[in-house]
Amino acid sequence: MIFEKFLTPDDMRDSFRDITPEELGARGIRWVFSDIDNTLATYDDPLPPGAVSDWLRRMEEAGISVIFVSNNDRARVEGFNSARPDSARPTYWKSAKPFTKSLRRAMREAGARREESMLLGDQLLTDAAAGKRAGLYTVIVPPIKDRTSLFWRVKRRIERPYIKKYLRLNPGPDRKSRGWEVWK
Ligand SMILES: [Mg+2]
Repeated sequence: MIFEKFLTPDDMRDSFRDITPEELGARGIRWVFSDIDNTLATYDDPLPPGAVSDWLRRMEEAGISVIFVSNNDRARVEGFNSARPDSARPTYWKSAKPFTKSLRRAMREAGARREESMLLGDQLLTDAAAGKRAGLYTVIVPPIKDRTSLFWRVKRRIERPYIKKYLRLNPGPDRKSRGWEVWK
C-alpha cells in the first residue's frame, strides 16, 4: 500500500482516556501534541468536556504537557484551550497536517525532543501522516462523532485498509468505542 509507513500508527487505542500518564512516563514521553476535533471532543463541544479536563489534569500532574496542534481555525482552538484546567499552553491552529511545519514549530517552541514526544489524533491522512513524518510515536483513536458527509466517508474509506491491516497485526482487547465503525 502506498505511503504505508506514514499511514500506519504506532498504536491505536479505544479513546484518549485509555492513554495513561504512567505508560507515557514509562516510554519517556513528556510532550503530547494532540489534535482536538474528534480526538478529544466532538465538533460540537466548544470547551473541553469533563473527561478531557480530568485527563489533562492527570497528565499535568505527571509532568506531561499536552499541546493542541489542530487544523481547525484560531477561534476554535483558542476557545477550547482557554478553558483547560491545567496551565496555559501555546496552541497551534491551521496546522495543515499532514505537513509537519506547525508540529515541528510546536516542538521547537516547547523544547521537546522527538523521542520525548507523541502525536495523538483520529485521522491517518492528516494526524498520523504528520506524526510519522516528524518521527514521533503516533497514536490514533477512533473519531468520537464522525462527520457523515461524502468527503468524510471517502476519507475514512481511504484509511480503511491501513486500519484493517493494523488491527490484523495488533488484535487488541479494548475496541468498544462506536467510532471503529467508520472503518468497517
Ligand atoms: Mg481530528
